[in-house]
Amino acid sequence: MYVLLARNAGFCAGVKKAVKIAEEAAGEPGKWFTLGPLVHNDEVVDYFRKKGVEPVDILGRIREQPAGIIIRSHGTSPELINKAREQGFEVRDATCVLVKKIHEIVTRLRGEDYDIVVFGDAKHPEVEGILGWCGRRASVVASTDEVCGLPVLQKAALVSQTTKDQKEFLEVAEALRNKCRELKVFNTICSATRNRQEAAQDLCWEVDLMLVIGDRKSSNTRTLSKECQNTGVRTFQIQKASEIKPEWLDGVSKIGITAGASTPDWIIKEVLDRMTLYEEEKMPEENQETNQETMPEENQETNQETMPEENQETNQEPDVQEETPANEESFAKLEAEMADFASPSKGDVIKGKVIQVLDDEVMVDVGGKSEGIIPLREMSLQDIDSAKELVEVGDEIEVMVLKWDDDGTILLSKKKVDAKILLDELEESFKDGKVIQGTVTGSVKGGLLVDVGIVAFLPASHVEDGYVKNLDEYINRDLSFKIIEFNRNKRRGSQVVLSRKELVAEEKAKQKKLFWEEIEEGQVRKGRIKRLVDYGAFIDLGGYEGLLHVSEIAHTRIEQPSDVLQEGEELDVYILALDREKERVSLSRKKLLKSPWEIVIEKFQEGDIIEGTVVRIAPFGAFVEIEAGVDGLVHISQLANHRVEKPEDVVQVNEKIKIKILSIDPEEKRIGLSLKEAQNELENQEIEEYMENQEEND
Ligand code: SF4
Repeated sequence: MYVLLARNAGFCAGVKKAVKIAEEAAGEPGKWFTLGPLVHNDEVVDYFRKKGVEPVDILGRIREQPAGIIIRSHGTSPELINKAREQGFEVRDATCVLVKKIHEIVTRLRGEDYDIVVFGDAKHPEVEGILGWCGRRASVVASTDEVCGLPVLQKAALVSQTTKDQKEFLEVAEALRNKCRELKVFNTICSATRNRQEAAQDLCWEVDLMLVIGDRKSSNTRTLSKECQNTGVRTFQIQKASEIKPEWLDGVSKIGITAGASTPDWIIKEVLDRMTLYEEEKMPEENQETNQETMPEENQETNQETMPEENQETNQEPDVQEETPANEESFAKLEAEMADFASPSKGDVIKGKVIQVLDDEVMVDVGGKSEGIIPLREMSLQDIDSAKELVEVGDEIEVMVLKWDDDGTILLSKKKVDAKILLDELEESFKDGKVIQGTVTGSVKGGLLVDVGIVAFLPASHVEDGYVKNLDEYINRDLSFKIIEFNRNKRRGSQVVLSRKELVAEEKAKQKKLFWEEIEEGQVRKGRIKRLVDYGAFIDLGGYEGLLHVSEIAHTRIEQPSDVLQEGEELDVYILALDREKERVSLSRKKLLKSPWEIVIEKFQEGDIIEGTVVRIAPFGAFVEIEAGVDGLVHISQLANHRVEKPEDVVQVNEKIKIKILSIDPEEKRIGLSLKEAQNELENQEIEEYMENQEEND
């Protein structure tokens, strides 16, 4: 099952800012309140309630003094802010700058005598707040139908609640155009909302099921949910992970996840974790390494908006005026500024300059008042002895925020950024089917471990394109691989599963093609004995195998190939015959060896007295082997000085005898031998030697 997280999901910059202001206030003395929930998310509200920041619906309910009021990101009316101040409350304004921008627009239009139409939900706090800045000449429409109920207007201006649907807004603008003599349209829909909607819609085309995470009171989450449903994909809106029903996931192979702008990262992470858990529970342990993909962890942690540069205000029909005064800040510019607003928070990746390097830690200037520390263990994915091996003062590096300490120091990690970059690269290689390099570092049950920057798993069945007897032979080898499974969020087993099977098969096919292009009968090739069988040996010729038949191993008769050859042995072979159709190669070894006759001719001459073995006896004489595979004949007349009736009377089979070579006929392959001449000569030699010895003694 694949779990895909929308590229834009979770807290928007405005909510982040409000949460930060509330966090800071919670740490200060006195009691703090928000007018209405800080954001439309009960989990976030409960979190702050525990920290002493309470939501109240009206100022009158606050009894404590001193107390402070936080104006939430939806904003509120100027009257209410003034009233709070008059009653002695300290006011912290967390109104999103984009909502404030709407307040500015409507205040100006009010001064220019425009009737203001707000597209939105009349009861939504953001709309209530906007109306507070509009004065009396304002109306709220939630649909084109409601536009029909408006009177004809002379000068009107249209703004939108920031979280509304873009398409509906344009329909309302079109409907309103027919009701007004002059209409100014301000597209004040926030890009965070649009980005989430577009990212969710894109994702809907890829998945079987969409989960939209967010509070049911959250307008933008409801809109997101509606947008997903409109694509036709089965969609469920949930507030937290525990609401997921396992039966929703039955038969689902790809799940998309998105979250409203008021949904905190921790809830998104819980949902992703629940998916992983569901999958792990569902799958047998041995299959844990397969068939999983969840979205990158860092996506869960960051969810940063990329604010478009484009002007947010809509292009309109000719008779509708677009309002973008040159000196006025656009929504896009404000959004860009908001991206810089927050101090780095846990999980953020930021740039910093190295200001001190010790063996066991590195100090980094990350801007602002704080300094960051990277402990040695967070410096690198590899084991290093000193941080000095990697960085020096002045280096600019990217680091991830792990946590803030009480003294304002930030604990940073370079390793996590490296891991993210590495995982991004590995994920890209996985998606593109690219070949990567790695070193085999060890073997485990069922396969090998490979260092590809992180430790990846190579199942035994994927080491080669066939069975591998001894996996340990691969340890310490640098090899090429393809990634067959990638799961960034996997907790058990490896995030990356590799294979060489396909690469090995491809390489073999290449070698085979080349082999058949180059091979010719009569060539001599080097080979390695791969397998010995009773009828010969299979020789690996470097990409292809040929058969060395037992009869072609040597000039002499070989009982078993293993009597003279060994598996793994290298040898030269002669290409005896090729059958290109059946792809068979016949080899010979004996063609490259000297024949016994060649040896005999080189080694012996007529007249030599040599030793031989009687191998056969015939009525006309005895055959004597003088070299492996070469026999000569001692004719019966050459066996003794006297007449011989039967050769057996003089010699026996297997008897070693001295014989004299009478003749060598290479053409007829005949050798004439004499036992009697050899004996006569040897006797004469003995007599001569005896006589010589006698003379010397006398
Ligand atoms: S959705 Fe947009 S307008 Fe609303 S708080 Fe977030 S950033 Fe601000």
